[in-house]
Amino acid sequence: MVTRLVRAGAVLLFFFFAGQVLGPGSQAQAKRIAAPPQPLRFCFAPLGSYDSELLALARQGAEYLYGAHTELLPASKLPRAAYYKPRKRYRAELLLAHLESLLPSDRCDIIVGITSVDISTTKGSVKDWGILGLGSIAGTTGVVSSFRMIRKVDRATQKRRMISTVNHEIGHVLGAPHGGAPGCLMNDAQGSVKTIDTESGLLCEDSRKLIEAHIGRALPRIETFDWSRFL
Ligand SMILES: [Zn+2]
Repeated sequence: MVTRLVRAGAVLLFFFFAGQVLGPGSQAQAKRIAAPPQPLRFCFAPLGSYDSELLALARQGAEYLYGAHTELLPASKLPRAAYYKPRKRYRAELLLAHLESLLPSDRCDIIVGITSVDISTTKGSVKDWGILGLGSIAGTTGVVSSFRMIRKVDRATQKRRMISTVNHEIGHVLGAPHGGAPGCLMNDAQGSVKTIDTESGLLCEDSRKLIEAHIGRALPRIETFDWSRFL
């Protein structure tokens, strides 16, 4: 009888602990902890004239490097206020302010404007310096122009420049300043578009760590950028 009671107690204890480990509440908790974070969400906004093929590749390149979901917003006009008449081009920082107003923050974490008109910003003592792109560091907006990347090069080079430039500006928006050795995605182009042609297309370790700290999740691990997917 004593033995049976002890055994019954042991069985009850077993169920008690089993309930603690396997009960529905604990399962739900384990599921929540194990659930992967939501992917990043990037909105792409065509501004004025743009190259639709390069835009589509830019989206694919961003999805590949950042593991993001992308959404294409309706095309819209370039804001008149951003036009810089003396040089007949658009001021990139004013385009960023405009893009901020277009960001559907319930659906997208950041917004990237794409255009084929020339864009510029102030660089050091140069008041109006033509650029490929601009991104607000640890902000929500970036803008890229194909104007300076398509001259006198073949289509494959144009595509590669577009993907690299968009991913570079997104890197800024996700918290990385310029950095890394030559060949790294976040290395400063130093004003020359040709610098981009020698880049790997990948974030180097220092920039990747800064971005992961900023966004609070890991980025896809890519050993070699597979250009054959895009070119
Ligand atoms: Zn940059």
